[in-house]
Amino acid sequence: MIRSYIALGSNLNQPRQQVSTAISTLATLANCQLIAQSRLYGSVAIGPGEQDNYVNAVIALDTSLSPASLLLALQSIEAEHQRQRNVRWAARTLDLDLLLYGTESINTPELTVPHPRMFERDFVLRPLADIAPAELLRHYLHNKLGKDGKDGKLDYSDNDNLWVLEPDDKAITN
Ligand code: AMP
Repeated sequence: MIRSYIALGSNLNQPRQQVSTAISTLATLANCQLIAQSRLYGSVAIGPGEQDNYVNAVIALDTSLSPASLLLALQSIEAEHQRQRNVRWAARTLDLDLLLYGTESINTPELTVPHPRMFERDFVLRPLADIAPAELLRHYLHNKLGKDGKDGKLDYSDNDNLWVLEPDDKAITN
């Protein structure tokens, strides 16, 4: 089994429920085992125009699927959640990104791993930091830790665009 990390995001049609349901579906994928899930986060949308806030999370999933097969599985879960693919960065019911697949670097027309934009996105890095081992974070984030880190830890205290969703937090239920 290979340890993969997958980012989930939603800002449409009850996003918390979209993310929770997707995690349950991922946990039942054949040849996969759910290892850990981050807390749920709220984040301000980046992209064009006014958009609702996002719900974000990251999971660790052990898998014997190939990277290409795992991507196909993620895309079919996205399709089940009726994601609208017509506009890039537009609001989406569910977005699933393969962040890491073991320590592999993958560059095919369909798949780039590590996910090329993960290192600039606090809404990915912070949930990842909930569940990833310290050495993995050090390995991938040493530049960021050196620049922004406090005591070798990522510091997000000044990021008003990202917050932990408490279980009873009704602030984002749309
Ligand atoms: P997006 O609209 O950001 O979800 O991008 C979807 C497209 O990104 C799909 O066509 C995938 O083939 C491609 N893609 C490339 N690398 C990845 C990755 N690491 N995880 C998910 N999709 C990826």
